[in-house]
Amino acid sequence: MRPAHAHIDLDALRHNYRLARSRHGGRALAVVKANAYGHGAIPCAQALADIADGYAVAFLDEALALRAAGITAPILILEGVFDAAELATAAALQLWIVVHHEEQLRMLEAAPAGISVEAWLKINSGMNRAGFAPADALPAWQRLCHCGRVSNITLMTHFARADEPHVLFTASQIDTFETATAAIPGPRSLANSAAVLGWPAAHRDWARPGILLYGANPLPGADDGLQAVMTLESRVIAVREIDAGAPLGYGARFHASRRTRVGLVAMGYADGYPRSAPDGTPVAVDGAASALIGRVSMDMLTVDLTDLPAAGPGSRVELWGPQVAINRVAQAAGTIAYELLCNVKRVGFEYHRRDEGL
Ligand SMILES: *Cc1c(COP(=O)(O)O)cnc(C)c1O
Repeated sequence: MRPAHAHIDLDALRHNYRLARSRHGGRALAVVKANAYGHGAIPCAQALADIADGYAVAFLDEALALRAAGITAPILILEGVFDAAELATAAALQLWIVVHHEEQLRMLEAAPAGISVEAWLKINSGMNRAGFAPADALPAWQRLCHCGRVSNITLMTHFARADEPHVLFTASQIDTFETATAAIPGPRSLANSAAVLGWPAAHRDWARPGILLYGANPLPGADDGLQAVMTLESRVIAVREIDAGAPLGYGARFHASRRTRVGLVAMGYADGYPRSAPDGTPVAVDGAASALIGRVSMDMLTVDLTDLPAAGPGSRVELWGPQVAINRVAQAAGTIAYELLCNVKRVGFEYHRRDEGL
């Protein structure tokens, strides 16, 4: 069997969720959109079921999958509903909906009597993507109150630059949100992962941690106590030696500067490992630091075993995980951990839980 796997450490996921909630205080929605950032939404949600205050997904179908899998806790739909039929389904399944634009307000006002949902009113405090303008916060809240279809209202906003600790844009967003909502009662939710870890001034009633649950710190360089949840790994399937000056792989991107032992690894961009990863991108071979050499192919990639004489066919290769921080791979490849994680596919997924069955 092909040795390419994603191991998912559900204890690490639980650790990270607890860390998020204790750093933030109050309650926390575990963000499991996009198949739990590539980790598997259902197993991840189930692993958190006894400790999570609730979940957040992007759209209705993601929530329906969780309900069908037996998740009974609150689930917030971050994009809200797209039409009246979705609103009716959301209400029937007691899903919570974000209301971020005029059309969604009108849907609620036009909904038949008997529909009742919990709404999160989203205010645009500076990201300028979704949400009501600050000046419209109070009128929108009043319309929600008066439409008779909303049981409870939470106020929320989302940060554009919370992952940049020294940039004051986040402080200005907090300020804009505070001013816009000063006259409105009810719980608040501001903090994504970066704000949970880096912006205590944004901590309110509800946190919305996503990426940190999966063990990747969105803030640069901080030692954070997070644990990697996914280990993407495979094995060396063949070894060859090439002479100094010899090319390696597609495009002959890499040329050996010395006689080089090349390990061929069963992992490629069709599995989600980034083709943009340059020579020198970190990997771990049987626990020892090494590096990618040569261009990543669809099904295979090559690593440098020259300084690891004990390594050979069958050696375990970690592409990211506890030994190779995914942020280092993302940085080398010119992307972010979010994208790498969401892209993992085709490999076998294995879920581990130490205390399973207890
Ligand atoms: C995705 C998302 C989050 C989680 O963001 P992270 O950076 O992964 O913590 C929180 N809030 C909203 C509105 C989102 O869309």
